[in-house]
Amino acid sequence: MKDLLSRLGIEDVNAGAWIGTEALPPAGDDRVVSTNPATNDPIASVAIADADQLDRVIDAAQDAFLEWRRLPAPKRGEVVRRMGNALRDHKEDLGRLVTLEVGKILSEGLGEVQESIDMADLAVGMSRQLYGLTMHSERAQHRMYEQWHPLGAIGVITAFNFPNAVWAWNAMVALACGDTVLWKPSIKAPLTAIATHRILSRVAEDAGFPHLLTLVIGQDAVVGEGMIRDPRLPLISATGSVRMGRYVGQVVAARLGRCLLELGGNNAIIVDRTADLDLAIRGIAFGAVGTAGQRCTTTRRLIVHEDIADEVIGRLVAAYEKLPIGDPMLPTTLVGPLIDPGAVAQYRAALDTIREQGGEILTGGEVLDRPGNFVRPTIVAARHDMPICHEETFAPILYVMRYRDLAEAIEWQNDVPQGLSSAIFTDSFRSAERFLSHEGSDCGIANVNIGTSGAEIGGAFGGEKDTGGGREAGSDAWKSYMRRQTCTLNWGTDLPLAQGVKFDI
Ligand code: NAD
Repeated sequence: MKDLLSRLGIEDVNAGAWIGTEALPPAGDDRVVSTNPATNDPIASVAIADADQLDRVIDAAQDAFLEWRRLPAPKRGEVVRRMGNALRDHKEDLGRLVTLEVGKILSEGLGEVQESIDMADLAVGMSRQLYGLTMHSERAQHRMYEQWHPLGAIGVITAFNFPNAVWAWNAMVALACGDTVLWKPSIKAPLTAIATHRILSRVAEDAGFPHLLTLVIGQDAVVGEGMIRDPRLPLISATGSVRMGRYVGQVVAARLGRCLLELGGNNAIIVDRTADLDLAIRGIAFGAVGTAGQRCTTTRRLIVHEDIADEVIGRLVAAYEKLPIGDPMLPTTLVGPLIDPGAVAQYRAALDTIREQGGEILTGGEVLDRPGNFVRPTIVAARHDMPICHEETFAPILYVMRYRDLAEAIEWQNDVPQGLSSAIFTDSFRSAERFLSHEGSDCGIANVNIGTSGAEIGGAFGGEKDTGGGREAGSDAWKSYMRRQTCTLNWGTDLPLAQGVKFDI
C-alpha cells in the first residue's frame, strides 16, 4: 500500500485546495482521514479547505475559463485526449486506489478508471461535433441558426461510490465544451480525487493551461455550501442522494443557477414467464450484488412472474450462498465491504424494518464477524406495499415480489419515487415492446435482457422523478455544459419585422 500511495504522491496530503498542480497551504489543523473499508484502518489523512481557499480557487477557475474558452474546441479535445492517455498510463494504480479507498472489487476499480478513459475518448470526438441547428427564417434574405458557447467554471460534486468516473463523466465533456472544472469529491474518498486531479493537472499544465482543473476537499457546511451558493459557478453538477439533491437543487435554483442532478435509484428487474432464466439469474446477481449494492443503478427490486418465482428464487438463493465475500483486492472476491460502519448500521436498521413490515429474509441478513464493513447480500420475500421497498438502502438487499400480469409488474416498477434504471428479462417481443413503450418503464434507463447496472457511456445517463432529471456522458448530454445562442442575420436591404409587425418611421 505504501508504494502505491507514494507513487501517487498521497501518503499524507497537506493541502485541501488545489489550483492545478499548486497546493494551497493548509488553512488550519483540521484534517480528514481516509480509511480502508475492508479493515477500517486509516490509509492517509488530508488537510481540509476553508471558505477563503474556496474563494481563491473559484477565482482561479474563472480566470482560467477566460483563456480556455478561446482555444478552438477540437484543440481542447486534443488536451482531453492527452488526459485520457495519462489515465491509461496510471490505470492500474488509480484502479487499485479506488479499491483500497471505497472497497469495490479490483475488476470494478479498474473498470471505473477505464470508464474515465472511455469518457475522455468520447469527449475528444464530441469536441468536433458541438453542433447547432439552422432554421428557415420567415423573413426574406434572413438566416437563423443556433450556436453553443462555453458556459463557465463548472462545479462538480461527486458521490463516494464512483470516486473517479463520476467526475470524468462531467469533467471530460465540460473541458471539451470550453469550461473549467472545480471538483468537490466526497469526503469519504478524497485520495482518489487528489491523485486523479494531480495526474491530469500535469497534463493541463504541459498544454499551457495550468489552472484548468481545481479541487477542494472539505466539509459540506463550508465548501459544499460555498460552492452551491456562488454565482460564479453557473452550473452545479451534483451526484449523490436524493436528500442532498433536493437541497442543492433548491439553493442553486434560488440564485437562478443551473443544476444537473444525478441522484438515487430504486431499480427493478421484471422477469416474465418467457425469460431465459440463465441470463436473468446472472443479470440479477450482478445488478443486486455488484459493488456490494452500492451503485445508483443497483437492482433493489425483483418483480417476478408467480409461475416461475420459486425457481428464480431457488436459483438466486443458491448463487448468493456461494458468493465469495472478502478482500476486494483478491481476484476471486465478488463482494467487497460497505463503505463505512454507518452504512453497516443502515443495513442492520433496514433488516429490522423489513421484519417489522412483514418481509421474510430468504438468505443473508447478517453482518460478518470480521474486521471491516462486510455484510451478507440479502434476498427478501417482500410485497410491493411494504414502505421500505420504496426507499433506497445503499446496501445489497434485494426485495422479491411476485406478479400475475405484466400491467401489474410495470405499475409496481414505476410506483416508487425514484426513476433511474429498469430492466425486463423476456423472450416475448410483445412484453419487451410494452415495457419500452410510453406506457412502460418511466425510468431514464430501460433495458431488455440485461440488468439495471453497468451502463455504457455512449448513451445519455440519468433518471427521472426523484433521481433528478439530469443527463450525463454521451448522446447530446454535452448541451448541459454550454449556453445556447440563437442568431438571426439579415443580408438584405430591408428590415422586415417578424409576425408581420409594422413599425415604419
Ligand atoms: P451523499 O448525498 O451523501 O453525498 C454526495 C455528495 O454531495 C458528496 O460529495 C457530499 O459531500 C455532497 N454534499 C452533501 N451535502 C451537500 C451540501 N449541502 N452542499 C454541497 N454538497 C453536499 O451521497 P453518497 O453517500 O456519497 O453517495 C451515494 C448516493 O449517490 C446514492 O443515493 C446513490 O444512488 C447516488 N448516486 C447517484 C448516481 C447517479 O448517477 N444517479 C451515481 C452515483 C451515486
